[in-house]
Amino acid sequence: MILIIFNFAAMLEDKNTSKTQLSDLGEFGLIKHLTKHFNITHKSTVYGIGDDAAVLAFEGDQCVVTTDLLVEGVHFDLSYVPLKHLGYKAVMVNLSDVYAMNATATQITVSIAVSNRFPLEALEELYAGIKTAADIYKVDVIGGDTTSSTTGLLISVTAVGQAKADDIVYRNGAKESDLLVVTGDLGAAYLGLQVLEREKEVFKVNPNSQPDLDQYSYLIERQLKPEARKDIPELLKGLEVKPTSMIDISDGLSSEIMHLCEQSEVGVHLYENKIPLDPTVISTCEEFNLNSTTVALNGGEDYELLFTIKQEDYPKIKANPNLTVIGHITNKDQGAALITRANEKIALQAQGWNPIKNN
Ligand code: ADP
Ligand code: MG
Repeated sequence: MILIIFNFAAMLEDKNTSKTQLSDLGEFGLIKHLTKHFNITHKSTVYGIGDDAAVLAFEGDQCVVTTDLLVEGVHFDLSYVPLKHLGYKAVMVNLSDVYAMNATATQITVSIAVSNRFPLEALEELYAGIKTAADIYKVDVIGGDTTSSTTGLLISVTAVGQAKADDIVYRNGAKESDLLVVTGDLGAAYLGLQVLEREKEVFKVNPNSQPDLDQYSYLIERQLKPEARKDIPELLKGLEVKPTSMIDISDGLSSEIMHLCEQSEVGVHLYENKIPLDPTVISTCEEFNLNSTTVALNGGEDYELLFTIKQEDYPKIKANPNLTVIGHITNKDQGAALITRANEKIALQAQGWNPIKNN
């Protein structure tokens, strides 16, 4: 269960609880303190934290590397994002990219820039989230960088993974008549953000209000504590299905579908009535007067996987509750199209995350 503490900034300034200034530790003391609980579990990690660079060895496999940068005020708002969740999510968004290559995640590095408004206790929270993610997802934390920032908090994670060359799945392999498949359900993370933003405004007007967010707990959890789909490459391997193309859903279904189509040089028919939605998404869309299809198409931050498979593999996946066939690949001339519930064909648009937020 997620505990929301609104107005985190006020908490940082709380004079009643003791806070340790980062300057009391110095840079090396800080790095030592934050990284002391990390231990190495992978054979491929030859050397982790402590030298000028970490050393890795992947016998026979190929290595995948991916980075994401999260910036306070752009990607997260500390008035409602607990630092522990932020640390966890910063790891998840990177692992999601590794799984989208059909690879196993093995190591991460973590770099942070912090201003002196953050006491040591705040960074301990951030690192508790990072450690929890590393433990659950079985990745070694093998390095990073620590520096100061004049304003907010920046956190950048780099993830490393491995896979057999033949197992790696790119965005460019989709072929005409392949089936388009998505994991889990869509739109919840975006609605979670809408709920949190609304409550933030309520809090500003009445700081003593206690929000009752029980009915939105699934949505808020999807926003604050997303889980990368580590299970999917393993599941597909077990089913003996190798996707022809794959991508993770960070910016919204619509733009990810368009990436697959562009890189594979194909078109797609996406069926509106097949898009998987949680019941809470449907009810909250009604409450917020939003169209649930628009939210699923353009919401983003779901961190589900989107992939294509050959038609002949359909019997292997059809009974699986984690996987939903939402469309099929067409030739390029047909373009990327949404087939609506009214059986109308409309062109998909890659709206992505920011436009919908500004509307
Ligand atoms: P350098 O001067 O070579 O950049 P640092 O003193 O920054 O080395 O880092 C010392 C060691 O601690 C390195 O192994 C580095 O990868 C690791 N490290 C530094 N900052 C972090 C961090 N925020 N999280 C995890 N490891 C870190
Ligand atoms: Mg450094």
